Amino acid sequence: MSLYDELELPRVINACATVTFLGGSRMPPEVLAAMHDAAQNFVNIPELQRKLGEKIAAMTHNEAAYIATGAAAGIVLAIAACMTHDNPTARAMLPQTDGLRNEVLLFKSHNIGYAFAVRQTGAKMVLLGDGEQVTAAELEGAINDKTAAFIWFQGTFCGRGDLPLPEVIEICQARGVPVLIDAAAQLPPVENFWNFTQLGATAAIFSGGKDLRGPQASGLVVGKRWLIEAIRPLGNPNAGIGRPMKVGKEEMAGLYAAVKRYLALDHAARRERDERAVADWCAAFNQLPGVSAQRSFPNEAGQPLPRCEVIIGAGARLSHDGTLLALRAGTPSIETGGAVGRTSFHLNPMTLSDEECKIVEERIVTLLA
Ligand SMILES: *Cc1c(COP(=O)(O)O)cnc(C)c1O
Repeated sequence: MSLYDELELPRVINACATVTFLGGSRMPPEVLAAMHDAAQNFVNIPELQRKLGEKIAAMTHNEAAYIATGAAAGIVLAIAACMTHDNPTARAMLPQTDGLRNEVLLFKSHNIGYAFAVRQTGAKMVLLGDGEQVTAAELEGAINDKTAAFIWFQGTFCGRGDLPLPEVIEICQARGVPVLIDAAAQLPPVENFWNFTQLGATAAIFSGGKDLRGPQASGLVVGKRWLIEAIRPLGNPNAGIGRPMKVGKEEMAGLYAAVKRYLALDHAARRERDERAVADWCAAFNQLPGVSAQRSFPNEAGQPLPRCEVIIGAGARLSHDGTLLALRAGTPSIETGGAVGRTSFHLNPMTLSDEECKIVEERIVTLLA
């Protein structure tokens, strides 16, 4: 009997995405094995962090890398490093930042919930633009001697008229302002391990617990050596701003195994499998009265993977909301990328086994036939 059964928590089929509220992703055997192995013995934690960082950096074509407890933790550490560099007095002050370079620039359209991680360090956020548009002049004008960093949140929320990333990097580089990329959900494509940093970003920050399928409480910062060196004293075992986001030997080992696996993965075959799942869903659901289904691309995070959009019309056996609630209430419970009150919902195959794709299909057909 599994723990979830013992607790009488319903088994969930996650047809939503790699979302934290459903547990993000499932660790493959090699990741579990690496964590199990690491858990058996003691090791010098800073040395483990350094060695794995060197390996991950080499594998991902970066100068340096640091394993954190998540992308959000990576943002905290990277922003704090940009304010403190190699200054121990500044490190000890945080989150008090008076007298430090403590302004972090970001576009207003990027001011999503995860930007909280920026403020958590004591940094002041300076929002640029109106949420739809930012010009080069606005960015130029915002840079001053208090500017600690620019942070770019990559996702489908980015404003249409926002200055493109290459130009942001060019302007910031010319003024000596580090550029950090929140790329938490930007794998795939696997090339994003190096795309952002090769473009000139100081660091890119990834979630370990999303499509990478590392431990849920893991994340990765890759980029310039000076930044990673400035992060080290902020993180555990040192007491400081990063100490409450302690990364264990198990998370480090698991993340390393996950990165290795991801680099070796047949991403084309995986994409084809997801395409097939979406095509099968569309074919099945388009037979149902009042229902239409179509491929939707890219997905909600902007990843180059397909989803199935299901539109429940007036002639359907259940309403849109009724369908979502019935899927959730069934056994196992099925969570979609939908919300009550909308007109369509998405099914995402990226977190599903073939068997689960079939269960989702059969349940929807049974409900709506
Ligand atoms: C998921 C996500 C995060 C947080 O990642 P964690 O690894 O869960 O801390 C941050 N930013 C964006 C854009 C995300 O999608």
